[in-house]
This record gives sequence, C-alpha cells and structure tokens, in this order.
Amino acid sequence: MVLVHNIAAVLFIIKPPISPPDLGIIRPPLINLGARMTQKKLTGAEIRQTFIDFFVEHKHTFVPSASLVPGGDATLLFTNAGMVQFKDVFLGTDKRPYTRAVDSQKVLRVAGKHNDLEEVGRDDYHHTFFEMLGNWSFGDYYKKEAIAWAWQLLTDVWGLPKDKLYATCFKDDIGNIPTDTDAAEIWKEQPGFDPLHVLFFGRKENFWEMAETGPCGPCSEIHIDRGEEFDNLRGKPHRCGVNGECTRFLELWNNVFIQYNRTGPDSLEPLPATHVDTGMGFERIVAVLQGVDSDYKIDLFQGVLEAVRALTGDSPDKMYANFTPYRVIADHARAAAFLIADGVVPGNVGRNYICRMIIRRAARFGTKLGLHEPFLANAADAIVSAYGDFYPELVKSRETILDNLTREEVRFARTVESGTAYLQGMLDELRKTSQKTLDGRKAFDLYATYGLPFEIARDIAREQELDVDDTGFKAAMEEHRLASGGGKAMGKMGGEDAEFYTGVMKNIQKAGRLGKDGVEFNPYEWMQVEGSVLTLAADGQALAEAGAGDRVEVLLPKTGFYVESGGQISDTGVIRAADGSWEIEVDEMRKPSAGAIVHVGEVIFGHPKAGDPATAAVDAARRHDIRRNHTATHLLHAALHQVLGENARQAGSSVTPDRFRFDFNHPEAMTPEQVERVEKLVNEAVAADYVVKPVVKSREQAVAEGAMALFGEKYGDTVRTITIGDQYSYELCGGTHLDRTSDVGVFLIVSESSAAAGVRRIEAVTGRGAYELIARRFKILDLAAQALKSGMDDVPAKIQALQVDLDISRKERSALRTKQAFEVFNVKMANVEMVMGIPVLAARIDDIDADMQRLMTDRFKQTYSGGTVLLASVVGDKVNVIAAVSDDLVKRGLKAGDLIVGIGGRGGGRPNMAQGSLPEPSQVDEALKKVVQVVEEKTK
Ligand SMILES: [Zn+2]
Ligand SMILES: [Zn+2]
Repeated sequence: MVLVHNIAAVLFIIKPPISPPDLGIIRPPLINLGARMTQKKLTGAEIRQTFIDFFVEHKHTFVPSASLVPGGDATLLFTNAGMVQFKDVFLGTDKRPYTRAVDSQKVLRVAGKHNDLEEVGRDDYHHTFFEMLGNWSFGDYYKKEAIAWAWQLLTDVWGLPKDKLYATCFKDDIGNIPTDTDAAEIWKEQPGFDPLHVLFFGRKENFWEMAETGPCGPCSEIHIDRGEEFDNLRGKPHRCGVNGECTRFLELWNNVFIQYNRTGPDSLEPLPATHVDTGMGFERIVAVLQGVDSDYKIDLFQGVLEAVRALTGDSPDKMYANFTPYRVIADHARAAAFLIADGVVPGNVGRNYICRMIIRRAARFGTKLGLHEPFLANAADAIVSAYGDFYPELVKSRETILDNLTREEVRFARTVESGTAYLQGMLDELRKTSQKTLDGRKAFDLYATYGLPFEIARDIAREQELDVDDTGFKAAMEEHRLASGGGKAMGKMGGEDAEFYTGVMKNIQKAGRLGKDGVEFNPYEWMQVEGSVLTLAADGQALAEAGAGDRVEVLLPKTGFYVESGGQISDTGVIRAADGSWEIEVDEMRKPSAGAIVHVGEVIFGHPKAGDPATAAVDAARRHDIRRNHTATHLLHAALHQVLGENARQAGSSVTPDRFRFDFNHPEAMTPEQVERVEKLVNEAVAADYVVKPVVKSREQAVAEGAMALFGEKYGDTVRTITIGDQYSYELCGGTHLDRTSDVGVFLIVSESSAAAGVRRIEAVTGRGAYELIARRFKILDLAAQALKSGMDDVPAKIQALQVDLDISRKERSALRTKQAFEVFNVKMANVEMVMGIPVLAARIDDIDADMQRLMTDRFKQTYSGGTVLLASVVGDKVNVIAAVSDDLVKRGLKAGDLIVGIGGRGGGRPNMAQGSLPEPSQVDEALKKVVQVVEEKTK
C-alpha cells in the first residue's frame, strides 16, 4: 500500500535499472526531438514559465512554492511532494479562495520515507532536491479538462511528437475497483493521439492513495518513447516499453484523479467533489525538451558543472567520463543552497543535520576530483544565478548561502582526515573478524567526535564492500538528542485526537450549532466570550459531565484564547458556568482538526456539563505580558537589521509572559558594543511611542510591499501584517500585539549566545520582567556596596582599588616565598655531594613553580661547572622534576632525561636539560636517593 503521495515516487523509482551504466561514458548520438518541433529549443526557465502561463490562461491561480520546511506539519522533516501545501484542502480541513491552482514546488527527498540520497550521482535521474510542476483542481474541473490540457501543452505548446506519447490508465489487478474507462475514452478523443497508445496498469502504477484511509483515486500517466538511441540497455535482453526496465521510455507526467474516500481495506465511497492533482518532474521534462540524455545535462545545471570543472581543469569529455562526483556536487550544492535560503543552516540534529550532511558529502566527492580547498561557494553561486529569477529567496540569501557553505567545508576539513582514519581502522578490524556491517553506534561516535556524518561513513564502507548499520546510528542519535535536550516531545497531534474532533465537528455542524468555518476565533478583540459548552471531552471520549479535579477538553462556539503559533505561547484563563456553579482552569489550547479549537484544563469546582452556558476569560495580565514581549520581538528584529544587516533574519522565536527568545542567522557572536546598540535602538523605538497597526491583506500585496515573511511559517492567502511606526518594522504576523510601543516599558537583553552553527540567540525581557530583573540587579549591587562599605556608584572604583591591593600583596607573598625557597636551596648548594669527582645535587624543595626550578638549576650550573642537578618539588598532589647536566657529562653519556627516568619519573627535553614528573608524592625522598646511582652507572 502506498502511503504517501507517490507521483514522483513512481517517476523516480521505476525508471533507473538496478545498476545503471554511466550514460556519460557511452554517449549515443543525440536525436533531438526538437528537430521535429516547430519552436526553437526552450531554456529551463522558459519551460517552467510556459507551464505556469498555460494554466494561468486556463484560469488557474499561480501559487508560489511553499518553503522546504513544511509549515504547520510537525510530522514531516521536509516538503517531499507537490501536494504537501495542499494536503489540508484534500482532507477538507482547509479552504482556499481558488479552486484551480498551478505551481512549481521545491521538493527535498533526503530523509524519512522518501530518501533518494543513495541513488543520487549514480544515475542521471535522481536528485535530492528537485522541482515538481503541478496543476490542481479542488472540486473544480476533472478528467476531461485535465487530459485535454496535458495533451495540448505537451504537443501544441512544447511540440513533442504525438506518435511517441503513451497514456496509462487504471485497471484493477485485484479486481474490485472499477476500471478507469472514462480516462481511457478521453485519451482516445485527443487530436492526433494513437488510440493503441492507451495502456492499462494496476494498483502499483496507477492507483494513488494518501494513506490507509482517506482520499484516493486512479491516475493516468503520460510516457514518452525517446527512441533506441536513449536506451541504456540497448542490445541487452530486457523489458523495453512503458513501465519497463530501461531509459528509452520515460514517464513525464502523472495526473491523479481523486474520486474516492477509502474507509477500509475493501470499501471505497465516492467523494461528493472530485479533485485533480498532477505532478511533472521538472528536470526530466526539461531534459526531454532539450534533447539531452541526462537530467544533469540540462541548461540549468551547466553553470554549476562549469564552475566545478573550472576548478578541476577537466575537459568536458573527462568530466562526462567521470560524471558521478560532478552529479553529486551539482545536486548537493543546489539542495544546500535552497535549504539555507529557507533558513536551514548546517547543525547537529534534525533538518540542520541534513544540511550539514549534504554539504560534507559534496565536499568529500570534491576531494575525489582533487578539490581540497573550499569550492562549494563557487558551485552554489552558479545555482543562485540559474535559479534566482524564479526563486528570489536565493538572491536575497546569497551571502548567507556562500558563507555557510565555506564555513562548513572548513569545519569539515579540520576533522575529516582523523575521522576517516579512525573509520578505516574500524573497517579493517571488521574485515579481520569476517564481519560485513559496522555497528551503527560506532558510526555515531565517529559523527559525535569527528563530525563524519553517517551517510559519508556508509559511502566509504560501501566503496569497500562493507556496510554500516543505520538503526544503531539512529538509536544512538536519538539518545543523544534526548540527552542534549534537543528532542522535546511533540505533544499530542494528528492521529486519534484529529479523528475524534473531525467527527465531533461534523455532528455539531450538521445540527446547526456551529457555522461551516468552525469555532469563531478572535484573540485580538475578545478577552471574554459567552457561549454554551458544545462538547466536553477527555482522551478522545465525549463526557456528559465532569467533576472537580478532572482534566477536560472544552469546545465552545467562539473563543479569544490564542493558540500557540508563530512562536507565541497559548493563552491561559478560566471558563466559568454562567450560574457560577463550576469553574475550569484552562492551561493548554489545541487545534486538533479543521475549525476545532479546544480549551484544555482542570475542573476546579462543580460539575460542568455539555450544554451549560458559560463564560471563557483569558488571563488578561499574562496576555498583556505576552503582547509586550511579542511587539518587542518585532522591534528587536528591526534593530538587528539596522546593526548587523539584512542577513540577520529571524530563525525562530519563543514568546512567553516572562521573557522571550529570538533566534537569527548570523555567523559570529555579536560584540558587546553591537548588543548595547541593539538594546538602545529598541528602547528608543519604545520611547518614540509608535503606533502598532495590524492590517489584513493579500499575501501577494504584503510580500510585494516588503513585509518580512518568516520561513517555516504557514501563511494563507490573506495574511495579517503588523506595521510599527511609519517605517520602523513591517512583518507578517498572526500574534497579539500592543497598541503602542511605549507600553513595552523597558527592554533589556539578558543574553546573547549561540543557538546552532550560524544561528545566534538573544534572550530578553520587557515590562514587568524587565522591572524584576532591574530590581534584582539593584539588590545585588546594594549588597555589594554594603559589603564594600561604599555608595553604589563607587562600587567599581572600590573593587578596582581592592584588586590593586590584592595584586601588591600577592607579589609580596610570592617574593617572600622565593626568598625562603632560595634560602633552603642555598643550604643544599652548600652540601653538594661529589660522586667520582662529579658535583651532584639531588634536592627536594616543595611549592615552587617551574620558573623558580629553572632559576635554581641555573644557579647550580654557575656555581659548579661539570656537574648535575635534579630538583623535585611537591605542589599539591603533583611532583614536578627538573634535571640539568653539564655538556661534558652529556658527552660522557649522562642525559638529563635519563636521570628523570632513572629515578622512576616521566619526562623529557634536551640532553642537558629535562623536565618531568614523579608519580608518587610520598616516595619523592626514596626516588632522590637513586640519583647518585644513575650518575654512577651512566658515567662509568
Ligand atoms: Zn529498452
Ligand atoms: Zn510576530
């Protein structure tokens, strides 16, 4: 059963044979389909644009690509299909103002269920990042229009030869879903389409399902026969045809017709409204229209390949003969550039780990081409040039992208050699014991210690026909995440909760107790609302009544309680019976399904029942603190731009009543001066008493006006904008704000620190929080002043004076100690032993440092030429030893190091002077007795 949108899965998994030969080596003469076309060859950018224009002409709304970081979907690491941003519409939990849409969606398949990483580079068709073209009907047009338009675009607009195109339709191989004869008949009506080119396939190829239940339906794929010249298995026996084994036949476009709702393994119900969801892998259609035999030979990749080739000095022929590293670098540089533009910088866990891994993997393939200096910035720059017109976020973040790539390459270079050396040791060990698979936990240690990502360790192992266990790696990483606090549980989401409330909402709406948009929600104006309890529930079960101490969920017809989003925490408050007979303290808010907003909390007293009239009141003082902090985040964001530049983009925030946290992209720690300036600018904006004005407008208008949109946030087609002052700050934001900035009170930065590589974090307080901080600090200052017996203003001067005094007394004490030590030493010097005519001094003088030891040995040498001295000094639990030997004694065979080793110590240095230690303070005197013996032996 296919669980996730499988359009491109089909597109990308079926085609490449198990071990595809490098098409660069055997390069067939290219037959350009364009020769049979009427138009000139289109560039990739033109192909993308003609696709969009074609559907816009047919009344589709162009919807910009959503971020690679899915907004509002915590279950997905990355946007991995075109339908991610429309999923809610198909599930019926969200509505859009349009019923026809066209888009080119950025997609990344490098983690989770869809992971093409291992294939990338080995063949000409796989990518980690790619673009998915799609046209969409939400209960609007259906098969007739979708098929006719697809045919027109491919043949009339793009000029593909009609006799080379095939269409596949659904015929159930199990036999209980009707054959899609509608689609087949529509295909046969298309002008110039060969009726024999309709082919039927079963569930695996031609039936699409989102999950085990839910919307599903048959699909119709369009394939092209590129001719024998493009067959990578030419001359070998193989299944050559549509959905076959070779690259001669390629799937171009999948049209999914969503017409059923699956309610169980064997039950399909017709949907009241039918939808169309299509997907066309952009790189592939460009390759076909440009007549090249590899996705990596399309114009959009030329710049990046040339940039790398310029560094390696390879000729084009040499590059194609060794195309794998070039493909990996082109793919990974592109993926990393798009990731960083969407705010995902290299780091240790989650999305950031993936970004790091991709960059490091590209860097390692660079070394295979002899590139040992950072080079990915050059590669990514070519990507920015090729894609920047359509994806302006790349141009906007160009510096950030290039900077992050180089930094990451430098970081990796520092550790990669030791990392691979250790890995090699482990692999050799493995081979000795005739094992094949390296323990994943060991691979994790390599990552934790040397920054060698699992994927690279596996690449290296596989190059030697060994492997690395990935479950062990994942388990170790998960433990590490938990240990380092990065793996906070995601709370309740989706699943049963969603199912329960979808049912609840349906019933309430059917009974007319709630409008079609669900619970009315206005956190901006309603601090207190009245209404009857629609549903009282706990753990997915409706309750007739609850009692004191019970934890319950309450659904009301309207609410002013803010639900956590955009970094702002949920509101808390109370729900009270209109007659005062019960009260619930609300401490959590949830949005389990479309239109449902649920208050969660504990019954304080009484017996709440479904249907009871009640009042829900937000905790106003807490809310006010949150508003202060939220408005301050916007002021801070603007001030950071003034001080650090436009690249200091928001990368996350957390707004609570006590304080707020603001993360932003910046490569290095802020200087104290910068922190001070930012704090001052924000407080000036507070004092300026700017008006804070929320306005709802279309997303297009807001973005065109330059409002700052935050990555990872999900925006509808109408957005709420917050303007502060005339020009001071302009952002898209759904949070609750002050009316005027002066209400912030005072803004204080508590700390500036690192949140992740390339991401800084500021923690700050405002209003009451700032007052508490100031009061606490004053108290500390007051205590310090009292202790110093000075006024508060004089504290620093007083401390400085004390430090001067302290320095003086330290110096005096040290001089005194030196004097005492030398007195002891002088006594020893007067009693130097003569061993076979050699002056030998072995003495113990405790609590002196190495400098003083050296002074003493110098003094000895000045007094006794042709002698040797060894001093041991116990300092705490350590024994420091120094030994000096005159040059003529060295010639006779006595070395300073031998002397230390000879009495049981460790150390080394020059032959005439060595330093080291003795293991045991209690045996120093015993050890010193051996000195004479060593001298005798060595000078014999
Ligand atoms: Zn073939
Ligand atoms: Zn905001």
